[in-house]
Amino acid sequence: MGQWKVLVVDDSPLVYKAVKKALEPEGFLLMDQAFNGRECLDRVSVQLPDVIIMDITMPVMDGLQAAEHLLRKNSQMKIIMVSAMGDEELLKKAKRIGVTNFLNKPFKPEELVNAVRSIF
Ligand SMILES: [Mg+2]
Repeated sequence: MGQWKVLVVDDSPLVYKAVKKALEPEGFLLMDQAFNGRECLDRVSVQLPDVIIMDITMPVMDGLQAAEHLLRKNSQMKIIMVSAMGDEELLKKAKRIGVTNFLNKPFKPEELVNAVRSIF
């Protein structure tokens, strides 16, 4: 079986680093980081990731808009929405769009690994 491809969409390079550190030892393959929703859509149209770790608050296009686009095209797209605690309204919106996986930021490496593993 090939490696599962993970796309991190976040305007912070630190989050990418944390995800890479947590998931690479588990055998996942990290695609180049997308820094906003627009870059995410461009990236996905070129190469389909198996799972997307998606920040909500980003410039240009936020994570909710990007998730909405992706799920409209492919309702099976696996997206883990990552948000800072307290973004209750944003989480409600994300659920309405159809995102089923959530992770609070900041997250522990094992929380991320569990969230990704629970998808497969
Ligand atoms: Mg952000």
